[in-house]
Amino acid sequence: MTKKSIGWKFDNSYSQLPNNFFTRLNPTPVRSPELAFLNDSLAASLGLDAELMRSNEGVAVFAGNEVPKGASPLAQAYAGHQFGHFTMLGDGRAILLGEHLTPSGERFDIQLKGSGRTPYSRSGDGRAALGPMLREYIISEAMHGLGIPTTRSLAVVKTGESIIRETVLPGAILTRVAASHLRVGTFEYAANSGSVQDLQSLADYAIMRHFPEIEDDENRYLALFKKVMTKQAALIAKWQLVGFIHGVMNTDNMAISGETIDYGPCAFMDEYNPDTVFSSIDIHGRYAYRNQPRIGGWNLARFAEALLPLFHEKQEQAVELAQEMLNDYSKMYMENWLTGMRAKLGIFNAENEDESLIEQLLQLMHDHHADYTNTFRALTFNQMDGTELFNSEEFTKWKQQWEARLDRQQESRADSLELMKTRNPAVIPRNHRVEEALTAAVEINDLSVTKKLLAVLKDPYAHNAQQEEYSTLPEPSCQPYQTFCGT
Ligand code: AMP
Ligand code: MG
Repeated sequence: MTKKSIGWKFDNSYSQLPNNFFTRLNPTPVRSPELAFLNDSLAASLGLDAELMRSNEGVAVFAGNEVPKGASPLAQAYAGHQFGHFTMLGDGRAILLGEHLTPSGERFDIQLKGSGRTPYSRSGDGRAALGPMLREYIISEAMHGLGIPTTRSLAVVKTGESIIRETVLPGAILTRVAASHLRVGTFEYAANSGSVQDLQSLADYAIMRHFPEIEDDENRYLALFKKVMTKQAALIAKWQLVGFIHGVMNTDNMAISGETIDYGPCAFMDEYNPDTVFSSIDIHGRYAYRNQPRIGGWNLARFAEALLPLFHEKQEQAVELAQEMLNDYSKMYMENWLTGMRAKLGIFNAENEDESLIEQLLQLMHDHHADYTNTFRALTFNQMDGTELFNSEEFTKWKQQWEARLDRQQESRADSLELMKTRNPAVIPRNHRVEEALTAAVEINDLSVTKKLLAVLKDPYAHNAQQEEYSTLPEPSCQPYQTFCGT
C-alpha cells in the first residue's frame, strides 16, 4: 500500500526567469516548531491533506525545517517606491518554496514569511513575531470572507525561538498562498537593474501566469498594463467599500495579480473619517483612507514607467501610450466604487444624482461620528435609531431622498434588502477584537480568542446571532488606534 501523502505538487516556473530575479536559498531551520493555526478549508481547496499537515512531517514544512519534494526554494528580488522613495529590496524574510499545482490545475505560490535571513535582509533578522503573523492570518482571511481578492494564510507556526524587537517576542512563520508574488516593484527592479530582455522576460512571464488571454494582442505589454490597472481599480474600490486601510501601499506591496498583499499596519476603520491613518510610520497620511485610490494611480504610473521600453521603441510614443491608458484609471475606479456604493444602498440601476446622494450620506456620517460598518448595517435592516446620526434632522431628510430613490427603481424593497445583505457586512475585524485575540495568543498562549474571531469573520454576510457581539464598538478612547509594521 502506498503511503498517504500531504498532496504537495510543486512546480517552479518563477525560477526559470533570468537568475538576477532571485537567489536560491533554503529557509533557515528553527528550534522547536509548533503549529498554531492551520487553515483547513484552504488546505482542502488546494488539494492538501490537513490531517497529515498537522503531523511533525507536515509542520516541519511550515517551519522551514524540511523542504517538500519538488520545491526549489528561493528569495525573490524586487524594488519598490517606499513612501515615494525608490529602494532596492527583495524578500528579506521570506522564502518562496515554489508553486503548488492544485488537482484542478491552478497554480499558487507557497511562501514562508519569517523564515530567516536572505541576501535581501539588509539589517533585518529575517524573522517575524507571532502577533503580526496572526494579524496577517486574521485580516487576510477576513478579506477573503468579504469577497475581496487577497493572498491567503495557510498556517502559522510558532518557532520556539524568541525574537528581539522593542521587547522580546515569540517568533513565528506564516505560510502565505498567493496567485503570485509578482509586484509592481518586481517590474521596477527589472527596469532598474537589468536589460530590456530581462524586463520582457518578466512581462511575458506575468502574462503567461495571470493573463494568458492577451498573449496574442498586438501590443501585449500595453494590454498587461491595462489588465493590472483594471484589477487595481476594482480592488481599491472594494477596500474603500468596506473601510479597509492597507497602511503601506508602497509599490512593492502592490501585486500584479490584483490581490491584496502584505498585511502589515493595515486595519479597518470604525468611525467614518476619510482622514483615518493607523500606521505609526505614516506621519503625513500618505496612505490615509481617502488617499488610497489616488495612491493606486500613483503606483500604476510607476508600473507604466517601468514598462515604457516595452510599450514602444520610441520613448516619446511609449509615454504617450502610457499616459493615454493611465487617464482611464480614475474613471475606472469611480465606476467600481459607485456601483459598489449603489449596491450598499440597495440601488440596482444608475441615476446621475446617485453620487451626490452617497456623498451626502458619507458627509453626515463624518459630521456625526457614525460607525462606517454599522451605519450601512442599520440601513440594511431598517434599524435606524439610537445614534447621533440617526437622530439628526439632516439624516431624516436624507432618508426621504433615499427612499424616493428606491421607489424610482423597478426592484422591490425586498430585492434591495437582499442586495444590501450581501454588500454590507455584519462584522469586520474590528481593531479592539483583533488586539484582544493577539494579546491572548501572545501573552497567555490562548489561541481560542483568535479561533472564535476567525469563525465569525468567515462569513461576514451571514448576519447571524453569533456575529452580534462582534459588531459592538470599542469603548471610547482618548488614544487613536495605532498599528506598527510589525517587523
Ligand atoms: P514590508 O514593509 O513588509 O513590505 O517589508 C519591506 C521590506 O523589508 C521587504 O523587503 C521585507 O522583506 C523586509 N523586511 C521586513 N522585515 C524584515 C526583517 N525582520 N528581516 C529582514 N527583512 C525584513
Ligand atoms: Mg512588502
